[in-house]
This record gives sequence, C-alpha cells and structure tokens, in this order.
Amino acid sequence: MQEPLKPIVSDSAMQNFVYNGHAARVIFGSGTLARVAEEVRRLGRRALVLSTPQQIDQARHLAATLGDLSVGIFAEATMHTPVEVTERALKASRELDADCTVALGGGSTTGLGKAIALRTDLPQIVIPTTYAGSEMTPILGETQDGAKKTIRNVKVLPETVLYDVDLTMSLPASLSASSGMNAIAHSVEALYAEDSNPVVSLIACAGIEALAKALPAIVAKADDREARWQALYGAWLSGICLGAVGMGLHHKLCHTLGGAFDLPHAETHTIVLPHAVAYNQRATQPAMARVAAALGARDAATGLYDLAGRIGAKRALRDIGMPEADIQRAAEMALANPYWNPRPLDGAAIKRLIARAWSGDPPDAAI
Ligand code: NAD
Repeated sequence: MQEPLKPIVSDSAMQNFVYNGHAARVIFGSGTLARVAEEVRRLGRRALVLSTPQQIDQARHLAATLGDLSVGIFAEATMHTPVEVTERALKASRELDADCTVALGGGSTTGLGKAIALRTDLPQIVIPTTYAGSEMTPILGETQDGAKKTIRNVKVLPETVLYDVDLTMSLPASLSASSGMNAIAHSVEALYAEDSNPVVSLIACAGIEALAKALPAIVAKADDREARWQALYGAWLSGICLGAVGMGLHHKLCHTLGGAFDLPHAETHTIVLPHAVAYNQRATQPAMARVAAALGARDAATGLYDLAGRIGAKRALRDIGMPEADIQRAAEMALANPYWNPRPLDGAAIKRLIARAWSGDPPDAAI
C-alpha cells in the first residue's frame, strides 16, 4: 500500500491574492470560563446570558460566575435563528437594560447573539460549545415564515470569543461527530474557494488535520481531553476559513436542503460533504490532494465518507428525514440562485449527487 501524501505546508506558487481577515479577540484553552467576568468588564457591566433550553444549567452556572455583572438569562435560542425568538430576546434585553450579551452554546445560540448585535450593536462575548464555527464569521442566517435568509455584515462579529475545552466535554459523541464534520466542510470548501488564498489554505489544512485526528478519538472516548482540545482548535481554524472566503456547492446545497426540508444542520453537512467533494474533484485537483493529505487518505471524497463511517455518523439523507420524492425538487432549488462553484452547476449531475447522498451510497467522482 502506498503511503498517504504528506500535507503541503506552504504555497510556493507565485499568486496575487486578497486576504480578508476579521479582527477578533480569542481566548483559548481549559478553565478559560474563569476569565469571563474580566471580559464582560472590558465591554460593559450588565450582561444578558444566552443559551438554548437544553443548556440552561450551563447558562445558570455562567450567570453565577458573573454575579452582579449578569442581569439575567434568556434561554430560548433555537436552530436557524427564528426572528420571533430574536424579538423576544430583544424585549428581554431592553427590559433588563443589558449592555452586552454572553452567548454560551453552539451555532444556534451564537446566531441569537449575532441577531441581537445586528439590531442593537450590543457588544458580544461568544463561548462556543460545539464545532460549528459561527463565532468566526460575519454571516447570520435567520428564518422568518419558513424561509431562511443569510446576511453578511461585520456588525454581527463578536468582540470576544472565549473557547473553553471543558465546556465541550458534555457534547455527546454523535453531536461531536456531525459538528466536527460540519467544521471540516468549512475548511474543505475554503481550499477551492473562488477567493482562496495561501493563508486561508494553510489554516484550512491545519483545521482538517486536527479534526480528522480528534473525532475518532472522541467517539472512542468522549472524555479524551487531548482530542477535545484538538477538535475545538480545529473548529476555530475552520470557522476562520468560513468567515474569510466564499463557499461553494456544498454549503449552498446544505443551506437549501436544511431550509426546505427542515433537516438538522450538522448532520446534513456530514452526509452531503463527500458527494459535493466528488462532484468538484476533477475541477479542484490540487485542493483535493491537500484535503486527502490532511485526512491521511488517498482520496478526498472517499476519505471523508470513510471518516464519517468510522465516527458512526449518519451517511444517508433518508436517515435524517428527507423524503425520496423531494430529490427532484431539491435539485431544482439548488440551481434556482446560481453561484460560483469550481465545476459549473449541472442539474442532472446535482440530482445524481443528491440521490446518492439520499441513499447513503459512497461518493462517485464520475458523477
Ligand atoms: P446547536 O447550536 O443547535 O446545538 C445542538 C444542540 O446541542 C443544542 O440543543 C445545544 O444546546 C446542544 N449543545 C451544544 N453544545 C453542547 C455541549 N457542549 N454539551 C451538551 N449539549 C450541547 O447546533 P450547531 O450545529 O452548533 O449550530 C447549528 C446552527 O448554527 C444552525 O442554525 C446553523 O445555520 C448555524 N451556523 C451558522 C454559521 C454562521 O457562520 N452563521 C456557521 C455554522 C452554523
């Protein structure tokens, strides 16, 4: 058997590029939650703590840590950031006279903090507890009347991001697996983005490598602290990629499928990624060689499919509630608003891609 390719650590090709970095203050490590009061004092005196109902205990602990610096908890964060939830949070924030927010949770809670910041300019501290990466992006997806709209605005970027590995120890193995694959998707698409650049590519390779090593270890032993550390680090790096360059077919497809069929975000990414990579493979050979190398695999698409299998993630859209009868509609929706992709969008091939993802077949680069 041939050795896997070695990761390429620098781009030597002479190439003009634009790098759009976003300023962020990042605190990373274990036990870092102890620094949250100090961070609130940098931004305000009256913090509103945000969480989902499922993480209210962690939110209460955080509010207790903040003592007088916390004016209350709003624990109704919901996936896909429904506008009606944001309106209730705004009301609570006004009534409590909050002067900053502290969002503790995954992408759903981060989304709520961003939605509040968009409307009020309240400074934000975000404490991510999944690997979604939203905290590093100027992107906000909101839903209203069943439609999901995405906006890009630097107003939604958090002032401080505080990563505490300890808070991720409770993330169940199955969620860790799909959330980690969601993060890998950001790095993969960054490597072949229209505005890709050597700096982001370096970050992307390091992100994929960290996550590909960490996720199987977490699934084998959920309290493997070193693996948790690596996964959160890889998630941060992948979030930087998502915030810095434009995404292609994979992200657009997941956005469409998630919004139209109410599919869970991270699981949808996990299932679609190997197929979207296979679709783009021939148009993105150098990027795909780097993905394969970072995964320690011979082939990017198969390597991603195998990784999802090894970490026990679902690999079929039919297993997360998408009806087979909707494959044709999904393909049409994916083409409705054209966007840049390394391989031009081909309706018949995209339908075949979705059909393979629906049934859980391995990816096919000849698609
Ligand atoms: P999530 O935030 O909905 O979390 C999933 C569930 O896991 C929730 O019940 C949550 O409370 C729970 N949870 C989170 N961390 C936990 C922990 N450490 N221990 C125990 N339970 C925990 O899921 P997600 O995948 O992180 O985020 C998905 C949302 O984020 C979607 O709405 C998606 O559109 C958005 N998102 C946005 C961006 C962006 O850049 N705008 C990027 C990625 C994701």
